[in-house]
Formats: sequence, structure tokens, C-alpha cells
Amino acid sequence: MNIILLGPPGAGKGTQAQRLVEAHGMRQLSTGDMLRAAVKAGTPVGLQAKAVMERGELVSDEIVSALIGEELDGMGPTTGAIFDGYPRTAAQAAALDAILDARGRTLDHVIELEVDEDALVERICGRFTCANCGKGYHDAFEQPREPGVCDKCGAREFKRRPDDNEATVRTRMAEYRAKTAPILPIYDQRGIVARVNGMADIDHVTAAIERIMAG
Ligand code: ADP
Ligand code: ADP
Ligand code: ZN
Repeated sequence: MNIILLGPPGAGKGTQAQRLVEAHGMRQLSTGDMLRAAVKAGTPVGLQAKAVMERGELVSDEIVSALIGEELDGMGPTTGAIFDGYPRTAAQAAALDAILDARGRTLDHVIELEVDEDALVERICGRFTCANCGKGYHDAFEQPREPGVCDKCGAREFKRRPDDNEATVRTRMAEYRAKTAPILPIYDQRGIVARVNGMADIDHVTAAIERIMAG
């Protein structure tokens, strides 16, 4: 199974992808995570991407599509892929078709998380993750069961993203509206888009996605 989770920043793509990984042994392919790892490691890609990401603009199509291809090549052929934050432009959508085709994979579902823009700033500004395992949390909506301790791995260190501030979020939303939302009709024409109410509780969103995947 290969699926795309589509939605603006803060829609819940990463949260839902982490749950699908746990439940089904699929792999989350997050270009945002890959780029942040490249920035941290100081690779040539990271050096190119850092300032662009801090502004909330999009990194080049060539860079992100190359990252996706490499990640897929490191996976077993039967491991399902959850594309999180990719594709984000029409050029990336076309690249993904070619990438999947070359590997004998097909796209099963494009799941659009529909959310009110007003909620996104609050979601993004309250977002934090475990510094050790990357599990996502929120100050108001998903706190660790034991304060200060990661549910998943027990670590006590957490981090926040430098681009998770209101000014950058506005740019990221504008990028989504201008470049990413317009790719939906491509997938609509193929009849593979399913829409989920991303304003529901995290558990409800997961249940809705599970129903779509069960066919
Ligand atoms: P994305 O990957 O789409 O940018 P995230 O999954 O990181 O979004 O979610 C953004 C923030 O909102 C996180 O802190 C997460 O815990 C929280 N969140 C995710 N889904 C929901 C939801 N359905 N209701 C409330 N908060 C949510
Ligand atoms: P969010 O889901 O909160 O918007 P991501 O972690 O997916 O954040 O992306 C963070 C940043 O990384 C984006 O603002 C952009 O600069 C860059 N990025 C991630 N994925 C892509 C992509 N597919 N194409 C271009 N830039 C990307
Ligand atoms: Zn952890």
C-alpha cells in the first residue's frame, strides 16, 4: 500500500503517519524530516535548504524528489509507503509518478486532511517532539502521559522547530494554497482522493484513515 497524506502545515500528517507506522509497519517518508536531518548533518543539501526552510518557502523539486527516491530504494519492496509532506508541487507529483513506476509501485490513496486555517497557527505554535525518538506532541492537544517523559521511549528531552512560529506559518500556508492544493485535481481525476475531517480528535482522524485504507 502506498498513500499520500496531504494537508497544510499542522493538519496532522506527521501525527497520523506515526500511527500508521506503529499499526501497520509501513514507512513514513517525510521530506521535512529528511531535510531537517540534512541541515543537522551539514550536507550540501542541508546547506542549500536551511535558509529556505527558515523562511517557510519550498525547497527545490529536484532536491526533495531525489531524497524520496533514495529513501524508497532503502526499503523492502513490500513495505508500504506513507508520503508525508510530499508531493507539494505539480512537478513533484509528476516526479513521484515516475519514481513509483520505476519501482513497480502504485498509489492507492491520496488522503486529504481538511482543516480550518485558523486552527493551524495554534497547532503549529504548540507543537513539540521527543528529541530522542521524534514522537510528536502538543502543549494542549497531545501531552505526554507523564509530564516531561516521552510515552514512546522514556526520554526527557523535547524540541521545537525553528520554523514553527506565526510569521513562518503564514508563509507556509500561502505556499500550500498556491502550489500544493492545486495538485489535488490531478489525483481527483484518477479517483483516488479521500477527504477526512482533520478538525476531529486525533483518534477519530486515525479511525477515518483506517476505514479508507481498509477499502
Ligand atoms: P503536520 O505534519 O501536518 O504539519 P502534525 O502532525 O505535526 O502536522 O500536527 C501539528 C500539531 O497539532 C502537533 O503538535 C500535533 O500533536 C497536533 N495535532 C495533530 N492532529 C491533531 C488533531 N486532530 N487535533 C488536535 N491537535 C492535533
Ligand atoms: P509542515 O508539515 O509543518 O509544513 P514539513 O516538515 O513538511 O512541515 O516541512 C518543513 C519545511 O521543509 C517546509 O516549509 C519546506 O521549506 C521544506 N519542505 C518539506 N517538504 C518539502 C517538499 N516536498 N518540497 C519542498 N519543500 C519541502
Ligand atoms: Zn521518545
